[in-house]
Amino acid sequence: MQNGFQILNGNEVSGMQHLAKITFPDVDRIARSGRALVILPVGVVEEHGAHLPLGLDSFAAEVYAEAAASHLEEKGYEVVVAPTISYGVARAAIDFPGTLSLEPETLRSLVIDVGRSLARHGLDRLVILNGHRDLSHMKALDEARTTLTEEQTAQVLCVGFTSDPELTAACYREGVPELSRSVRPDREGHGGEWETSLALHAFPDLVNQDIVARLEPNFEYDVSAFRGETKDYWSLSSGSGYFGSPQSGNAETGKKIIAIRGRNIAGVILNAWGPAK
Ligand SMILES: [Zn+2]
Repeated sequence: MQNGFQILNGNEVSGMQHLAKITFPDVDRIARSGRALVILPVGVVEEHGAHLPLGLDSFAAEVYAEAAASHLEEKGYEVVVAPTISYGVARAAIDFPGTLSLEPETLRSLVIDVGRSLARHGLDRLVILNGHRDLSHMKALDEARTTLTEEQTAQVLCVGFTSDPELTAACYREGVPELSRSVRPDREGHGGEWETSLALHAFPDLVNQDIVARLEPNFEYDVSAFRGETKDYWSLSSGSGYFGSPQSGNAETGKKIIAIRGRNIAGVILNAWGPAK
């Protein structure tokens, strides 16, 4: 993933920046502009079927952050992407090798600490962009948002997968279902068509395509237990770890999903905060 640098007015460098790749004078300049907006991608280390990497949700959050950034820059923001929080709460898939979980309190504290540190340097407009759907994980992020907002540390928004289903739909669902090639789009979920498509476009080297070719669709699972997290992923998927049809995924769909979700997420942010002044 690259920085979208542009040269403006002959010498002024602008475009989305990665906080960990710039210098302290750069941060100072961006903070003083009054137009800074920080995106904090949040993911998890969690199984995504035998064909996809454990870091998928973190990588997805980064990809969507970059896709949203250009729309925000068009409206005057100077977008800074903070280093991804790649650990999260992942209880549903904890029985699969490699899945790691934080206690919700650990995640909540971590996000609050990052938000306070950013605000100390004048970066007090924070978007938490979460790529991992888990109720306790999303709640912890929402609680961090509430704390940072109530103590007036920063303006904070949660986008991507959030504890507000309408907000999540506005970010991730709008414009997406019609792209489906699955025979059961209503059954596509974790590790299925959408995540496989995203990975095939954005990080194809991390997809095991030989395995994809052997994966039968998993449509006959308990959808309400999956959504409500009342049963774990191992028992829900008989140890396969995916829901839906990975074979329906393709790179072209992935490219479209990223563009649509990037625009959706920017739209939600602009709806809440308006253009930069
Ligand atoms: Zn995922």
